[in-house]
Amino acid sequence: MAPPSDRAPLAERVEELLATGGLLPIVAAGRPVLRHATQPYDGQLAPALLARFIEAMRDTMHAAPGVGLAAPQVGVPLRIAVIEDPAPVPEEVALIRGRVPQPFRVLVNPSYEPVGTARVAFFEGCLSVPGWQAVVARHAEVRLRGEDEHGRALDEVFTGWPARIVQHETDHLDGTLYLDRAELRSLSTNEAVAALWAQPAPEAAAEALGFELP
Ligand code: ZN
Repeated sequence: MAPPSDRAPLAERVEELLATGGLLPIVAAGRPVLRHATQPYDGQLAPALLARFIEAMRDTMHAAPGVGLAAPQVGVPLRIAVIEDPAPVPEEVALIRGRVPQPFRVLVNPSYEPVGTARVAFFEGCLSVPGWQAVVARHAEVRLRGEDEHGRALDEVFTGWPARIVQHETDHLDGTLYLDRAELRSLSTNEAVAALWAQPAPEAAAEALGFELP
């Protein structure tokens, strides 16, 4: 636990961010805050401030729109992320990608480990890398441990698309962007993905662009 004198600046920064009352500005790739490990949350924000910050993160994620948002993406180096995915996709996509609805969750101090050895690869994007998507092979199933926003222990196995979301967001908290894990030859603009690679799985993209799938 940091001494009180070191704790004030983070809380002040969050107060400043929330002072506008609007959506939080999303930080884009190239900003160091996205490349540094975050501080574990241990009370740096008082409960009322934490609740307001989480609400603003949720509103910002909805507006983006996105299915996850990590605190460093709004310039706050704390080990906190939010996730939520209504999964508005066709049934075929839902089946192949395992994209089932994920209710709103707050992940505090999360970490994950793979369950089994299976990996699955799909296009994904990031609010901090706007305009682009790339194929990332990730663990098909992970065990996520941490806490929720009330400090209750979280220990849960995630599969399908929610497993991808929690890996992507937890990686942010370690200063890792999805591009670090991506097949770079798959890198595509959103326009190219919509025009060419909207299939539920990336086999055709792998063939045409020349990258490996697990
Ligand atoms: Zn991201």
